[in-house]
Amino acid sequence: ANAATLAVFSGEGVMADGHLVPLLANVGGAADAVKAAAAGAQGVGLLRTEFCFLDRDEEPTLDEQVTAYRGVFDAFPGKKVVVRTLDAGADKPLPFLTDASEPNPALGVRGYRTDFTSPGVLKRQLAAVATAAEGTEADVWVMAPMISTAEEAADFARMCGEAGLKNPGVMVEVPSAALTAETILGEVNFASLGTNDLTQYAMAADRQLGPLAALNTPWQPAVLRLIQLTVAGSVAEGNNKPVGVCGEAAADPALAVVLVGLGVNTLSMTARALAAVAAVLAKVTVEEAQRLAGIALAAPSALEARARVRAELPILD
Ligand code: PEP
Ligand code: MG
Repeated sequence: ANAATLAVFSGEGVMADGHLVPLLANVGGAADAVKAAAAGAQGVGLLRTEFCFLDRDEEPTLDEQVTAYRGVFDAFPGKKVVVRTLDAGADKPLPFLTDASEPNPALGVRGYRTDFTSPGVLKRQLAAVATAAEGTEADVWVMAPMISTAEEAADFARMCGEAGLKNPGVMVEVPSAALTAETILGEVNFASLGTNDLTQYAMAADRQLGPLAALNTPWQPAVLRLIQLTVAGSVAEGNNKPVGVCGEAAADPALAVVLVGLGVNTLSMTARALAAVAAVLAKVTVEEAQRLAGIALAAPSALEARARVRAELPILD
């Protein structure tokens, strides 16, 4: 979609009781960021940096990276921009980082794990993000994809600190990270739920396979419970860290309400979905969202959860 076809929304994530849910955009580069800002996004919840370099055989230089990231930062002066470090592998192979001959790429050396096999690339990327951040007014946060353990989270936070980046976080998209969210969030400042991969791994169903689409929905009871556990860990004694959602789940208006009801603080989505999600949130209070989250959690199946919640949200009909 181009900027002209994106509906500009005015609700800005204000719920019926005045509760604010920042609505952010998922972007793959500066062009996306400009469109997202025009559509009314309050920042970027996911900059997929691998999208800037998908056609590359070699690691991008520091200057190339700085230019790519700064283009996004400049579209959001004074706003939050969450940079995700390279999520290479599986559905997003990068020839300079990932091994195309792996037998199980989704379970392979991907995302943060490429730091095990290609040491230095992540460190140089963090340096580029820090350099790009210096010249802008954007509030730059940075997060690692495919974090599975608290040790990895701690290591990433240490690397961010060494690069001078003050707001390290992790994606929660591996079930082990959701199950240990309390410990993981003791190491970093925030978490962002990647419901696309979290669903794929919880259901053991490749997200790219059409015949598995019925398994691959974030309405699955198992996925809703993992989200609930992540939020519980984030607010556990001594933590109090924000949790967002940046997977496709945030773009489904009925599910967005459920996510807020589960305690998620921010929602990040394709810019095309912002207006519809804002419109539904404007009709419900947090208390109603919590009740709908309870209905979703109590449902025996994904289909039932979706049907029961949608039946309570007549605005969607
Ligand atoms: C996710 O896994 O939900 C996510 C947001 O990341 P990606 O779709 O880029 O893997
Ligand atoms: Mg992912």
